Amino acid sequence: MPGFEVFGDEERKQVNEVLDSGILMRYGFDGMRNNHWKAKEFEIAFADRMQSKHCQLVSSGTSALTVALASAGIGEGDEVIMPTFTFVASFESILMLGAVPVIVDIDDTLTMDPIAVEAAITPKTRCVMPVHMCGSMADLKALKDICITHNLLLLEDACQALGGTYEGKPLGSYGDLGCFSFDFVKTITCGEGGAVLTNNDKYAINADQYQDHGHDHIGNDRGEEAHLYMGYNFRISELNAAVGLAQLEKLDVILQLQKRNYEIIRNVLETVEGVTFRRVPEGGVENYSFLNFFLPNGELTQKVHKALSENGVDACFYWYTNNWHYIDGWEHLRNLKTLGNVSSKFRNQIQKLNETDFSKSDAVISRTISSLIKIGWTVEEVKVRAEKMKAVIISAL
Ligand SMILES: *Cc1c(COP(=O)(O)O)cnc(C)c1O
Repeated sequence: MPGFEVFGDEERKQVNEVLDSGILMRYGFDGMRNNHWKAKEFEIAFADRMQSKHCQLVSSGTSALTVALASAGIGEGDEVIMPTFTFVASFESILMLGAVPVIVDIDDTLTMDPIAVEAAITPKTRCVMPVHMCGSMADLKALKDICITHNLLLLEDACQALGGTYEGKPLGSYGDLGCFSFDFVKTITCGEGGAVLTNNDKYAINADQYQDHGHDHIGNDRGEEAHLYMGYNFRISELNAAVGLAQLEKLDVILQLQKRNYEIIRNVLETVEGVTFRRVPEGGVENYSFLNFFLPNGELTQKVHKALSENGVDACFYWYTNNWHYIDGWEHLRNLKTLGNVSSKFRNQIQKLNETDFSKSDAVISRTISSLIKIGWTVEEVKVRAEKMKAVIISAL
C-alpha cells in the first residue's frame, strides 16, 4: 500500500518549485509565488480523479473526518454510528465536535454490518460513518438505503481504500461526504495530509471556511476577509500538497501493481483448505492494498499469524490483539479518559462500551489475518511469499 515506496524525482521537482518560490502557505502572497498553487492544483486534480464536484485538502485524514462532520453541521449530542474495526480517528473526530460515537458490529466484509446500523438508530442519530478497512468497502447500497429512509448523512472513511470502486464509482464519492488520508503509510502519501470529497455545494463552502479559521476566502486580502462561523486551523501546507500532486500521478500504476501482487498470493491461498476470504459487497472492486483472509477459529489464526512471522513472512497483521484498530484496544475510549474535564451530561450520553456485547465482531476479527500488499515486490518475490504462506498455513492447520 505505501506510496512512499515509489518516491522519486517527480516528488522532488514538485517540492523544489515550492522551495524556490519560498511560499509555503496555500493562501495569499500572490505576487511572490511564481504562480504555484499546489494545494489548489491537487484539489482540482483529486476531485477530477475521484469523479467528485469538490475536494477540500486538509492537514490529515483525522482532520478530514472532523472537517467533514463539521461542514454538515454535526455538533453536540448528535450521534454518529461507526464500526468496531477502524482507526482511532473515527471516534476522535466525532468527540472533537462534542458529538457521540455509537459503535456497531462488523460482518464478514470487515466493515459495518447494515443490520447493526439499523438497530442502533435513535432520534439523535445524524450520521452513519462506514470505514472501508484494508482496501475494501462496506455494503454502501444497503447503508445508503438506511440513510435515505432515516434522513441520515452517509460519510465514507475511505482512508484505506483509495482507488477502490463501488457500482463503478470511486470509494469516497458515493456518500454525502468522503474522507481520505495521505499520511506516511497510505496508498499515496504527502507526509501528512487529508482530503474531503463532496458533491454538496454547501458542505464544500463550509469545509473550505471551517478548515481555515472561518475565513470566507472572498477577495484577495486575507486580512479583510469575513468570518461567518468559527472554525479552526486544519490547513495543509504547500510542501505537503506538492508531494501529493506527484504521488497522485502514480496512483494508477500503484493500483495495477497492487492488483498483480494480490492476485498472485490469492490464487495460491485459494488452494488451501480452511482458508476463506473477506467478502466484497456485490458491485465492489477492492484497491488491493491488503489481502484479508479467515481461518477456521481464533486459536488457529493466532497460531498461523505467529508462524508466518517466525518464518519471515513480514507485514501480516492480526488486528484482534492490535491496540490501534479494534475496540478491545481502546481502553481510553471505553473508560472516557481525557486530559481535561468532561461534563456529566456528556458522560451519561456516551455508550457504555464495557457493557456492550461485540461478540459478533470478535468472531470475525479473531479469525482475520491481513497481509499488506507492497508495491515494490517483484513477481518472483511475491511468488516465493505466496508459497511460503501456503506452506506455513498448511503446517499450522
Ligand atoms: C489513516 C487513517 C485515518 C486517519 O488518517 P491520518 O492522516 O493518519 O490522520 C482515518 N481512518 C482510517 C481508516 C485510517 O486508516
